[in-house]
Amino acid sequence: MILQLTKNIGREEAQQIADSNKAFLIDYKSEKYLITGSSMKEVPQQLQDKISEFWVFENDNQLASRKFQSETREVKFGNVTIGGSTKNTIMIAGPCSVESKEQIVQSSELLTSLGLSTLRGGCYKPRTSPYSFQGLGLEGLKLLKKMREQYGLNVITEVRDATQINEVIEYTDIIQVGAKAMYDQGILRACAKTDKPVLIKRGFGTTLQEFVQAAEFVLSGGNPNVVLCERGIRTFETGTRFTLDLCGVAWLKEYTNLPIVLDPSHAMGYAYGIPDLTRACVAMGVDGLLVEVHPNPKVAKSDASQQLNHDEFRQLLSTLNPVAEAVGYKIV
Ligand code: PEP
Ligand code: MN
Repeated sequence: MILQLTKNIGREEAQQIADSNKAFLIDYKSEKYLITGSSMKEVPQQLQDKISEFWVFENDNQLASRKFQSETREVKFGNVTIGGSTKNTIMIAGPCSVESKEQIVQSSELLTSLGLSTLRGGCYKPRTSPYSFQGLGLEGLKLLKKMREQYGLNVITEVRDATQINEVIEYTDIIQVGAKAMYDQGILRACAKTDKPVLIKRGFGTTLQEFVQAAEFVLSGGNPNVVLCERGIRTFETGTRFTLDLCGVAWLKEYTNLPIVLDPSHAMGYAYGIPDLTRACVAMGVDGLLVEVHPNPKVAKSDASQQLNHDEFRQLLSTLNPVAEAVGYKIV
C-alpha cells in the first residue's frame, strides 16, 4: 500500500510514523509517502487523520505501477530526458567492454560524429567464466570519465558487486545493474541511496513481476530514477543467444510507469540479426535502445560475435528515425 502523508507532517514525525508502521518513507514530487507491503489493504486506524490519499495494490508492483502514477516517469541521462511526455528513444551505444584508451576514443568519436549523447562500456564484467576477460576495473572507469570530460558524453557502466558502487557513481553518470546482478540486494539497496539513474537489466530467468520488484527495491529506498532494460530471456531455443521478450515489453508498458530500454545486442548474440531486431525494438515505442558497437569486433575481448562495426552501426542508425516517427517517437 502507498499512503500519502498530509502536508502538515514534518520530516521527523513522518520518520516516526514510518518506523512505527514498519514502512518505507520517501519524498517524491514534494510529497511524502509511506510504502508498506501490498498485503496491507486498509489504512490503519491510527493513520486515518495523517493520510491525504492512498493506493491499494494486488501485488508488490506499487511505486513502479501505472496505478500509482499513470504517466511514465521522466528520467534524466545528463542533458537528455527520457520518459514523461518526451517521446524520446535514446540510443545508448558503445563497446561491451572498455578495453583501451584508443578503443574508447574511437567509440566516443563515433557517437559524437552521429550526434549521440550516451556512451556505454563495461569495466567490471560479470563473465560466465573466471578465465575470461574481467574488465579493466578502475582504469576503465578513469577512461570513461575522460571521455565524459573530452566529448561531453554521458557514460553508463555496470556494477558487478556492491563494493564497486561508490567508484561507479563517482566516475560515471548512469549505473547499469546487469542481468546476473539484478537479484543482488546489496547493489539494489546501494543504488537506492543515490539519485543517479539506474538501468536494471532483466535476468534471463526472471519473471516480469520479479523484475519490477527489483526496481521497487531502488524506488522504495528513495531513488525515483529507475529504468528497466529487457535484454532477452532464456528459452528452449539455442539458435540465437537469448529470446527478446517483446510481449514482456508490452506488459511492462501497460503496467509500469518506468522508462523502458531494449537491448537487441545481448538478446540476439549475433551481429547479423541486430539491425532488423533494433528496428523491431524501435517499433515497440520505447524510451531507449542499448546497442553494442566496437571499432573492430573481431578482436573484442567480450561479446565479439554480437558487436556491430562502425559502418554497420552508422548504417543501422540511418534507418531508425522513420520507424520511430511511425510510432510517434524520435531517436536521440
Ligand atoms: C552488458 O551489457 O555488456 C552485459 C553484460 O549485459 P547483461 O547483464 O544483460 O548480460
Ligand atoms: Mn556485452
